[in-house]
Amino acid sequence: MTQTQDILDIASLGQIAPPRRPAAEQKRTFLSIWFRCCHVYGRLYRNAARTSYNGCCPRCRNRARVLVRSDGTTRRCFQAI
Ligand SMILES: [Zn+2]
Repeated sequence: MTQTQDILDIASLGQIAPPRRPAAEQKRTFLSIWFRCCHVYGRLYRNAARTSYNGCCPRCRNRARVLVRSDGTTRRCFQAI
C-alpha cells in the first residue's frame, strides 16, 4: 500500500551521469530533492533499471519519483509536489 508521487520534471540520465569510471567504483547515483511537504531536503536513488530515481521524505515518508528520459532536463535538484 505505497503511494508514489510522480514529479513533473524528468531527468536526463545520459547528461547527468558522472564520467565513466572503473566498474569497481559503482556509487549509487542520486538526486537532491526538496520535499515541500515537510520543508526538508532528501535524496532519490536510481533504481536498478536506471529508469527513475526513487526515494521518500525523511520525515513523513511521502514517496517521490523522478523519471529518467533522454530528452529530459539536466537539473539535479527537484521539488516534490
Ligand atoms: Zn514530508
